[in-house]
Amino acid sequence: MTFHPLIVVHGGAWKIPEEEHTPHGEGCRRAALAGWEVLRAGRSAVDAVEAAVRALEDDPTFDAGRGSCLNAAGEVELDAIIMDGRTLSLGAVAAVRRVRNPVTLARRVMEKGPHNFLVGSGAEEFARYHGMPLISPEELIVARERARWEAWRAGNGLYTENLFAPSGTVGAVALDREGHLAAATSTGGKPNKWPGRVGDSPLVGCGAYADDRSAAASATGDGEALMRILATGTVCAQVARGHSPQEAAEEMLRLLAERTGGYGGLIVLDPRGRFGIAHTTPHMAWAYVLGDGTLRAGIRVPNCPEGILCGRGATTGGGLVSR
Ligand code: ASP
Repeated sequence: MTFHPLIVVHGGAWKIPEEEHTPHGEGCRRAALAGWEVLRAGRSAVDAVEAAVRALEDDPTFDAGRGSCLNAAGEVELDAIIMDGRTLSLGAVAAVRRVRNPVTLARRVMEKGPHNFLVGSGAEEFARYHGMPLISPEELIVARERARWEAWRAGNGLYTENLFAPSGTVGAVALDREGHLAAATSTGGKPNKWPGRVGDSPLVGCGAYADDRSAAASATGDGEALMRILATGTVCAQVARGHSPQEAAEEMLRLLAERTGGYGGLIVLDPRGRFGIAHTTPHMAWAYVLGDGTLRAGIRVPNCPEGILCGRGATTGGGLVSR
């Protein structure tokens, strides 16, 4: 049996300023297409989510890879996870400062073993050992984030206590033509975070989860809250119990608010190709490409499923895969 492959990506859930809507929507659109090209070529869901998340990490618009927010010490520390729904294999890294694409390092961890999760200098040494170039930490910092950090340090109290602080964590879920699922999430975390702080993003079952027998999911939002309810593991279990991905995502965010007071966004995809996108923030950047080649990208707003559509994109020109 051949499945209709599809990919869904997100670029964070927060109060995205209007002037940043287009870059966020366009960035998601490009990333979804990058992942889609991989699926269309017959490659795996793991390859596709890695390709999509790399595109988002390389785009300085987002809080992942270059362009990430700075911690309280004025440094970028990156977290990422990737998970293969076929085998439940996973790789994760946290607090890395010298790797351009942490999702690729997470994949190396997954595939080269013997561990699942590496942090800090040990993770960087693993990258070097497995042939990934190490960069100067400064290369991850962009002027926009340096200015935000300086404003915060100058005592303007910018963003630290603000709900929906600037974010832009990225993630992707994909279904390949063999019917396998994968998920990946990558982030620079919260602005002005304590050095060494790790949020939900690289934690399995919190920032991402994938199981061919249930669903694949990627989360964004208030990491301290999301990790307390095992957001993505629980949402996948809800799909296994019979809820649609959209219902399960909405229910999980209701639970997040009720039990923790937290907020966030989720993308969820099941093995039948049904998917859900939900958020409890003012905006969420998203994109998807469906099996028939339909492409959509935009900035979602509450109570409006598609929100503001971005880019040229209605379709890539259908009929790309047959059963
Ligand atoms: N969940 C991320 C973290 O807490 C941030 C975000 O997604 O906005 O590190």
